[in-house]
Amino acid sequence: MKAAVYRQYHKDPRQVVKIEDIDTPNPKGNEVLIKVEAAAYNYNDLWGIWGEPIKIPMPHISGSDVAGTVTEVGENVTTNIKEGDRVTSYPNLTCRVCYECTSGREYDCGNRLVWGFQTGPLWGGFAQYTHLPEVNVIKLLDNVSFTDAAAISMVGMTAWHMLVTRAKIRPGQTVLIMGGGSGMGIAGIQIAKLFNCDVIATAGNKDKMEKCLQLGADFVVNHRESDWYEKVREITNRQGVDVVYEHIGKTVFPQEVALLKIGGTLVSTGATTGYTSTIDLRYLFFKGTNLLGATQGTKAGLEGVIGWVSKGKIKPVIDTILPFSNMVEGHIKMADSQLFGKIVTTPQIL
Ligand SMILES: [Zn+2]
Repeated sequence: MKAAVYRQYHKDPRQVVKIEDIDTPNPKGNEVLIKVEAAAYNYNDLWGIWGEPIKIPMPHISGSDVAGTVTEVGENVTTNIKEGDRVTSYPNLTCRVCYECTSGREYDCGNRLVWGFQTGPLWGGFAQYTHLPEVNVIKLLDNVSFTDAAAISMVGMTAWHMLVTRAKIRPGQTVLIMGGGSGMGIAGIQIAKLFNCDVIATAGNKDKMEKCLQLGADFVVNHRESDWYEKVREITNRQGVDVVYEHIGKTVFPQEVALLKIGGTLVSTGATTGYTSTIDLRYLFFKGTNLLGATQGTKAGLEGVIGWVSKGKIKPVIDTILPFSNMVEGHIKMADSQLFGKIVTTPQIL
């Protein structure tokens, strides 16, 4: 089979990621073999290629979001997953026996590995075939395309976890979706609207601002303008917002905390502009502010998201679909971040 393999770290993916012929894997007892029809890109693919912030097993195949068809099941597979099923991946490999796992918090499992990022050698989604434990696949209804399923999995699961599981959004709340034009933002806007929240999105240019409105955002502000914070205050009649959906970090964090209503909640899953920040602690204790962290999500959450995709209530947004022979371009596009939606490659189409 063909797979996108790299054997050393490099800042430029084109220097190291090559399409190679390697052996098709055999599923272990509790695993299924998947013929990969679509695989989507995430930032952790770039972190793997760069070798930063963590080192990963080599040689490596990246890719944590796939959809395809089950072509073989291991002898110990006990669920109703069978050959011919259309499935998508749930990328958290967890122990399923620790306290956190058995409390329904598999995302907090101390043994958790993100498949396609921390796994290997040669175990990820950018390949014509891959294998996953049966508990890490979710069946797709026929009306959910492979490209849509791959495109929504990681961002949909993470956004659901942030807004529904952690921030516990409710109808009528005002939710500020930072970076509304990013993959995370697109999922966040749609989930907040699904819960009948009022959504204020931020984006970095006119084109992305317009697209946020088309996705259902009620208001949009340009977070590259220095008065973005004042504009959000004006939109809320100086009341602030109930929930901030945060993945930007240092450059906006203090303003986000200040924008929260009394008892409001900020939920963070990343910090692309920097990890350190200062906040006025009076906002924390006087206003009863909730500062929450979130990473990844649950399989049940992802199944919920896929269900809403099937009902047409969450629409995956795809920027580009690349043939597999040109898959490395997806890493480049991801790095320069001038995207609206996900990049997907099709390993069966070279
Ligand atoms: Zn565990």
